[in-house]
Amino acid sequence: MTGISKADQLKRNAPLKEKPFKSKHYLAWFHSQGFGCIVCANPQIEAHHVKEHSSDNRDDRYILPLCEYYHRYSEFMSPHGSPKIWRETYPLDVQKSIATKLFEVWKNESMDTD
Ligand SMILES: [Zn+2]
Repeated sequence: MTGISKADQLKRNAPLKEKPFKSKHYLAWFHSQGFGCIVCANPQIEAHHVKEHSSDNRDDRYILPLCEYYHRYSEFMSPHGSPKIWRETYPLDVQKSIATKLFEVWKNESMDTD
């Protein structure tokens, strides 16, 4: 997707990590929008931080609304309960594209009001 060779990716993913974006304002907005869980539409959501590697930092630009069950526990499909199936169902690029759309909405709205 990015046109970087496998070797470069491995090098890149070693110790050098991009500084993660953190925003309490975005998290507060995210929880105030009435987003439902992307799996079951339950309105009681948690923010799942999308990660490429489990050692990656949590970056607030990449969060998805999930209910507690599908976030943490489901053996059927859950990023923390059954990560392999989760990634097959929601590949990284799909997760990031959903997360980015939500983040862009917030960015545009906060530009309007500032
Ligand atoms: Zn759910």
